[in-house]
Amino acid sequence: MKIAIVGAGAAGLMAAITAAERGVKADLYEQSPEVGRKILASGNGRCNISNTSLSSDDYFGRHPTFVDTALKTFDFPAFSRFCESIGLLLRTLPDGRTYPLSNEAKSVHGAMKRQALHLGVGVHPQKRVERIERRGGGFRLFDGQGGEDYDRVLVSTGLAAAPQLGGNTDGLTFAKALGHSVIEPWPALVGLHLKEAWPARMSGVKIDAEATLYIDGKRGETFGGDLLFTKYGVSGFAILDASIEASRAIASGRRVTIGVNLLPIFPRQSLVKRLEKLAQRNAFFTVLDILQGVLPYKISKTLLEVLKIPLERKGSELTPKNFRAIASQIAEWRFEVTETHGYKHAEVAGGGVSCREVDAKTMASKIVPGLYFAGEVLDIVGKRGGYNLHFAWASGYLAGIAMVKR
Ligand SMILES: Cc1cc2nc3c(=O)[nH]c(=O)nc-3n(C[C@H](O)[C@H](O)[C@H](O)COP(=O)(O)OP(=O)(O)OC[C@H]3O[C@@H](n4cnc5c(N)ncnc54)[C@H](O)[C@@H]3O)c2cc1C
Repeated sequence: MKIAIVGAGAAGLMAAITAAERGVKADLYEQSPEVGRKILASGNGRCNISNTSLSSDDYFGRHPTFVDTALKTFDFPAFSRFCESIGLLLRTLPDGRTYPLSNEAKSVHGAMKRQALHLGVGVHPQKRVERIERRGGGFRLFDGQGGEDYDRVLVSTGLAAAPQLGGNTDGLTFAKALGHSVIEPWPALVGLHLKEAWPARMSGVKIDAEATLYIDGKRGETFGGDLLFTKYGVSGFAILDASIEASRAIASGRRVTIGVNLLPIFPRQSLVKRLEKLAQRNAFFTVLDILQGVLPYKISKTLLEVLKIPLERKGSELTPKNFRAIASQIAEWRFEVTETHGYKHAEVAGGGVSCREVDAKTMASKIVPGLYFAGEVLDIVGKRGGYNLHFAWASGYLAGIAMVKR
């Protein structure tokens, strides 16, 4: 049995190791000079490798049954045992996010590469597969220097996010040419550009906030976490999670706005009372002084400018209507999203090979016998928190087992 794996990221490396552990040595093709470059870059160099709490709720809700089936077979304990077997110990934070004990992505990269080489996987860096053709009952792979025949092929080429780390859409080209349907990709886990100029004035300020998504005016999910104002718009964890759906909606021409709650710990009514109390107790406070007691300076100043309330006005001179307007703006400041910060800055891409045409237990194509898909190239995208890497490990593992079965 001769098998090829196209793309040596998390999914491809896991599939190669799994197959080799069962006695079949795969050829692993990688276009870059180094395997697993996204593993090295992940989690800001610390690699949020997985999460103890895994379910389809943590993934963009297109294929819940597919995701749950894959996660059930290769769950967190199974992954943890695998890591230990290759000498990689893990550390889990109270919220479930899991990192290598070393806190360095290099450890993950090193352990996967070492294990693949130790098991005799044929690692071929700087070999970009250009075409996959069906030949007889198998396949011929073309890498620019000639063709090589294989019985089974796994496409684990990832998607278009982070082109500087090898992100591309080759996998979708292969899938389409072999008869598969694909959902056109969109950048995800990425900052959002806003129509308003205000965010630029608050650039560099990070707060604990909530962002609620509105698509064509319809209220959607609310995402909590930190929110960072930037020169182009907004980023931060709350926005990255919201971006999966926001980006897809923009790509399909829909109108996207976000409502930012700058102080989610206070309900709007109690906020009005608090601000009024602060003004009553300190008659000499300006309205800017009052706001600076609860929010960062740049935000306080910009918010008052938006509401056209003079910064130096005494708090005691504010009307109940002014207080209600300030509290409303704090509780839901609306911004219109124009575009995302683009693939270069995206951690992942949504869309990919349609999961309807792939078996969730084996990652085998339901259309082409002997063809498999794993990792981000499939139409699965997870939130932040280790979910994307876990899906890559799990689907790579399932493909690795299935590919060596006679
Ligand atoms: C900056 C950054 C930080 C991230 N942090 C995290 C994190 O902390 N936790 C988390 O869960 N996820 C994180 N992610 C997402 C995660 O890294 C990916 O979802 C995951 O690596 C996908 O694995 P994959 O194997 O499917 O694809 P990839 O890792 O993209 O691997 C695909 C490989 O295929 C190669 N390739 C492509 N085309 C060809 C071809 N034609 N021939 C040969 N080789 C080819 C590519 O060069 C690449 O090496 C992060 C991503 C980025 C960019």
